[in-house]
Amino acid sequence: MARHISTQLIHHPYQSPEGFAAPQPGVFKASTVLFKDVANMRARDWRSRAGYTYGRHGTPTTMLLEERIATLEGGLQCLLVPSGLAALALVNQTLLSPGDELLLPNNVYGPSREMARHELTRWGITHRMYDPLDAVALREMISPATKLIWLEAPGSVTMEFPDLTGLVAAARQRGVMTALDNTWGAGLALRGFEHGIDIVTQALTKYPSGGGDVLMGSVCTRDLALHERIKGTHMRLGLGVAGNDAELVLRSLPSMALRYAAQDQAARQLAQWLQTQSAVGRVLHPALPDSPGHNHWAGLCDQAAGLFSVLFKPKFSAAQVDRFVDGLQLFGIGYSWAGPISLAVPYDLRTMRERSPYQGHLVRLCIGLEAVADLQADLHQAMAAAFEA
Ligand SMILES: *Cc1c(COP(=O)(O)O)cnc(C)c1O
Repeated sequence: MARHISTQLIHHPYQSPEGFAAPQPGVFKASTVLFKDVANMRARDWRSRAGYTYGRHGTPTTMLLEERIATLEGGLQCLLVPSGLAALALVNQTLLSPGDELLLPNNVYGPSREMARHELTRWGITHRMYDPLDAVALREMISPATKLIWLEAPGSVTMEFPDLTGLVAAARQRGVMTALDNTWGAGLALRGFEHGIDIVTQALTKYPSGGGDVLMGSVCTRDLALHERIKGTHMRLGLGVAGNDAELVLRSLPSMALRYAAQDQAARQLAQWLQTQSAVGRVLHPALPDSPGHNHWAGLCDQAAGLFSVLFKPKFSAAQVDRFVDGLQLFGIGYSWAGPISLAVPYDLRTMRERSPYQGHLVRLCIGLEAVADLQADLHQAMAAAFEA
C-alpha cells in the first residue's frame, strides 16, 4: 500500500550526496562550486543532477526540496522559482512564441491574467478567457494557434471548481498542453498528474511554507523532455532560490498535511456557520453543495484548502462590508494565505470579471491555525457591528 503523503514527506528516499546522516537536511549556500581540476570542470554538465556546477543551477538543499515537491505533486521532476507567480511566467515563457494563443479560465489568479495582458501581448502572444465549468465550449475555442491551457481548481476568489476532467479531455483531444496552478490543491486535495495534466505549478509561498515568511514557486512535470525544455529557459532567465528560503520550506513540509487538514476542517465549520447568518447572502466554498462546480470537486477531492469567500446580502453597501473587515480583530487584512494567521480581503468583483454572476460584496477569508471558536466569535462581533448598527 502506498504510504500517506505526510509519511512520504518525512521518510523520503532521496539523500543529498553529502552523506550527513541526520533527518534534518543541511543548508548549503554557494555561488561558486569548486572543481577538482580543469578536466573535471569541462566534463561537468549543468543539467545533470549527479554533481554541482554553480549556485544558480542548484545546491544539495535546493535539489532536495525539488525532489520533495515532485513527490508531493506526484511528479517526476521539479524546478524552483522565486515565487508562485514566477512559476506561471516560467511556463508561459518556455511554451509560448509569437503567434501562439493561450487560454485562461475566467476566474484565474488575477496577476496571471495581467501577465497575459501585458508581457504576453507585447510579445505577440494572444489570450482568451474560457468558462471553467463548460468543457464543451473550451473544446470549441481551441484553435490551431492554441498552445497552452491554464487550469486552476478552484478559481481564485470566486472559488468555482472547474470541470477538470472534461477540460483536460478537451485539451488532450486537440493535442494542447495543459498546466495546472495547484496552489489550492497543494498536492494534498488534488494531484494534477493523476488527471492527465502536463505541468503542475504551485505557490510554495502558501501551504508548503505555511509560515507566511517565504515566497517561492515550483514547476513539476512527469516528462523528462518537457522538464529539460523548462529547465533550459529557467537557466537562461537566471532563476533560482536561496538556500535559507529552501530551508524554511523543507522544515515546514513534514507538518503540511496536518496543517492542511486542520485548516480545511476549520474553514468548513466556519463556512457552514456563516451560511446561517442573516447578513450573509452566499458562501462560496467548493465543499458546499450549492457552490459552483461542487459536483466536480466532490468527484475529484475529499479535502479542501482553508479558503472561501462570503457574499454579503446586496442590501449592504461596500462601506459596510469594509467596516466588517476593519472590525475583525483576529483576521488580518492582507493578501496570500495558508499561514498561521487568518486573513480577510474584500474584493470588488466588477473589476475582476467582464460579467459577474454574483450579487453583493465579497470578502475572501483564509483560515489560519487559531481556535475555530475564537474565529467564529470574531466574525460574529464584526458582523454585528457592521450590519446591525
Ligand atoms: C498566491 C498565488 C500565486 C502566486 O504566488 P506568489 O508566491 O505570491 O507569487 C499564484 N497562484 C495562486 C492560485 C495563488 O493563490
